Amino acid sequence: MTDCECLRLNDVERVADHRDFFAGLRQLSVGSWTGLSQCRACGQHWALSGWEQQVAQLATKVAASAAEEWKAINVNSAKEFMLEHRGGNSDEICAWAHCGKPCVKDSAWCIDHLYETGIGE
Ligand SMILES: [Zn+2]
Ligand SMILES: [Zn+2]
Repeated sequence: MTDCECLRLNDVERVADHRDFFAGLRQLSVGSWTGLSQCRACGQHWALSGWEQQVAQLATKVAASAAEEWKAINVNSAKEFMLEHRGGNSDEICAWAHCGKPCVKDSAWCIDHLYETGIGE
């Protein structure tokens, strides 16, 4: 048994919900609260998103083999979190020219363009 929260936590978590735990991770990349960190007990990698993103700060489990891709993993998690937070997609089509993807509920944009506009959760 390892003395950590990793197994109990979901693949994507709000950092604010488990601040003490995430604060105790070993940072593998520079920057406070953003980048790649690792659990000291079990070795699980976590990608932490930074404050510059307009959504809640998120922590995402990362497979060791995908550790180099933590930036893209953060972006994916932010989009998934936003989509879920907003209740999913609607029947509308994104207002962005030639996009063609479904809009996020109560929004004129798809999740990709909503994220790019930085509107947030
Ligand atoms: Zn752990
Ligand atoms: Zn779009």
